[in-house]
Amino acid sequence: RKKVAVMTSGGDSPGMNAAVRAVVRTAINMGCDAYCIYEGYEGLVRGGDLIRQMHWEDVRGWLSEGGTLIGTARCKAFYQRPGRLLGAKNMVANGIDALIICGGDGSLTGADKFRQEWPSLVDELVANGDFTEDQVTPYRHLNIVGLVGSIDNDLSGTDATIGCYSALARICEMVDYIEATASSHSRAFVVEVMGRASGWLAVNAGTATGADFVLIPERPEEHDWKEKMSLVHREMGKRKTIVIVAEGARDKEGQKITPTEIKDLLSDTSENGLALDTRITTLGHVQRGGSPVHMDRMLATLQGVEAVKAVLEATPGTETCFIALEENKIVRKPLIRAVQETQELAKAVESKDFTRALQLRDREFAD
Ligand code: ATP
Repeated sequence: RKKVAVMTSGGDSPGMNAAVRAVVRTAINMGCDAYCIYEGYEGLVRGGDLIRQMHWEDVRGWLSEGGTLIGTARCKAFYQRPGRLLGAKNMVANGIDALIICGGDGSLTGADKFRQEWPSLVDELVANGDFTEDQVTPYRHLNIVGLVGSIDNDLSGTDATIGCYSALARICEMVDYIEATASSHSRAFVVEVMGRASGWLAVNAGTATGADFVLIPERPEEHDWKEKMSLVHREMGKRKTIVIVAEGARDKEGQKITPTEIKDLLSDTSENGLALDTRITTLGHVQRGGSPVHMDRMLATLQGVEAVKAVLEATPGTETCFIALEENKIVRKPLIRAVQETQELAKAVESKDFTRALQLRDREFAD
């Protein structure tokens, strides 16, 4: 029987459990044994009871659970070949050669590297005397498929990542609460949301809550944002103000815009200042927490099923793929291209090449 393993890696996101559940049950349904690797790549490297066979009932009730029940970790050892060699040893020892990884661009980069190195890792295991040639023969090819779990919706090539809709719903809920107190006291609030290189959460939350200003990494203000904010206030005589700022927001010079800077501008009591009573709210980890919303459960379930099909259909010549959502369809796409584009976008933002950043961000709000 074919053995299919699944793991979650990098930052947790709501819907990861639904993805694990879908993989486990689809694998069983398709006549395979299903395994979970606990604690991300750390579990792969350490092996032992961090690699466990899963049965149908083991994932009962997982659809609605937030976070990841099989744990996740940042694993230093996996960046180096000796760590990946230990991972390969544990895979062969457990008879696993089909792996589904749910994580962000870092986790998927590690996955691609692991698959590329696999033949030489297996050779090394034989050379070291860990296994005989006959023992490794059934495991000469490793098939890997990626699922994108991230609240930032920052992976190139997919319209949505598992977890982004739940984070967005949570942000909107929080901004609605803030809105009520802002209007009552005629206050300004600066709300910082996640997104180091991606403004998806900020733009969507801003649109859905009717925020007054949104600042994101990919689109630095064409005019001076300070001037613009002051002008709008004076012209409209605003009573309350909500500013949503992504953690990686930039100005036209490419400098980070901090919530404190925005607060200083809005609360300035000098002659021409706006003198607004301004508060900063950093939403932080509440954005990751709680039950996944319907869309993340659906995405995780449909993509989990597709990932098992893809990993079982893969041949040695098949390019490593990840499961994407494209124009409302679940599709397979080349993994490394998406990872490279995502990393290129982060670099473009970092090096202030915003034209390139917008080209790469093939999302509706870039237009
Ligand atoms: P998030 O979007 O939440 O940051 P991520 O998957 O990008 O998620 P990372 O911390 O970048 O999170 O990666 C998770 C793990 O994947 C790392 O701790 C490491 O074990 C592995 N990994 C990341 N990049 C590589 C790489 N270039 N080579 C090998 N392994 C890697």
